[in-house]
Amino acid sequence: MASSIVYGPVPSRRLGRSLGINNVPPKICSYSCIYCQLGKTLRMEVEPRPLYKAAKIAEQAKAKLKRAREKGERVDYVTFVPDGEPTLDANLGEEIGMLNGLGVRVAVITNGSLLWREDVRQNLLKADWLSLKVDAVNEETWRRINQPHTSLKLETILQGMLKFAQMFEGELTTETMLVRDVNDDLGEIKRIAEFLAVLKPARGYIAIPTRPPAEQVEPVKEQTINAAYQIFTERLSRVEYLIGYEGNAFACTGNAQEDLLSITAVHPMREDAVAEFLENARTDWGTVRELIDNGNLVELEYQGKKFYMRRLPGYSLP
Ligand code: SF4
Repeated sequence: MASSIVYGPVPSRRLGRSLGINNVPPKICSYSCIYCQLGKTLRMEVEPRPLYKAAKIAEQAKAKLKRAREKGERVDYVTFVPDGEPTLDANLGEEIGMLNGLGVRVAVITNGSLLWREDVRQNLLKADWLSLKVDAVNEETWRRINQPHTSLKLETILQGMLKFAQMFEGELTTETMLVRDVNDDLGEIKRIAEFLAVLKPARGYIAIPTRPPAEQVEPVKEQTINAAYQIFTERLSRVEYLIGYEGNAFACTGNAQEDLLSITAVHPMREDAVAEFLENARTDWGTVRELIDNGNLVELEYQGKKFYMRRLPGYSLP
C-alpha cells in the first residue's frame, strides 16, 4: 500500500533521526540471510525493476518532512531501508534525486550484491550515506550466511564494491553481521578486515543479530566480538558495534556508571582507558566491579590485555 512507503521519523544509532522509505514490497531480495529479521525471502530477484513511482515517494516524503518540521521534530536523514533489497527498485536513482531536492540528506542501507551493475552504481552515487553488507569474503561462508540468488558470484560483487567505493563521494560505511559457527572464525574475520582495508569505509560496523532472525542462529561469544573489534581496528580508521543499544557513545551524563555503559555499548574500553575514565570521574574500580556483578558489563581478554564491554542484549551471565 502506497501509504506505508514513508514512515517515521524514527531514532537511528547511525543516522540520528531518520525518515524511513520502504521502496520494496515484502520480501523481495537478492539474498536470504539466515539472520534476516524480515523472515525468509519470498522472491529472490536480481533484476532491478520499477516498483513505485518516484514522484509518489517524493510526495509522501515531502508531506512527512513538512509535518515533522511543523512539530519541531528534527529529521537528519531520509533512509531507504525497505522490506528487501533497495537496489532492486529501478527507480532508486530518480527517487534519491527528488529527495535531494527537498534539502535533506539521503541514506541507503543495501546488501551491495548488485554493485557490479553500472545502473545500480549510478543510482547509488546520488546518495549521501551508504551502508554495504560485508559478512564474508569467502565463497562458501557467503553462501551459508547470505544464501544468495544462484546467479550471483561473490568475487564479482566484491569487485563491484571496490569500483563503487572509488567513485562514491558520500560517506561509505560497512556492516558485518557475525553469526556463531558461520563467519565468526578469526581467520575469516581477518580476511574480511583485509578486504575492508582496501575498500576504506569511513566506518566499519560490527553487528550481531539482536532481533528474531529468519533461521535459528546462535549468538557469537562476547570474546569473539571483542576480538573482531580489535582486528578491524588495526585496519580501519573507525569501528563501532551495532548491537541494538541506542546509547550515545559520547554521552556524558555525569553518572560514571551510565557513561561507562554508553561508551562500552559501542566500543570496548581497554583497562588503561577505563582507569583514566575513573580518575576523571573521581571514582574507583568499585564502580566497574558493581557493573560486572550486576551483569551489565563484561571483562574480556584479548592478546594479553583486558577489555571491558557492555553485556550484549539477551546474553546471560556465565
Ligand atoms: S540482504 Fe537484508 S533484507 Fe535481504 S535477506 Fe539479507 S538481511 Fe534480509
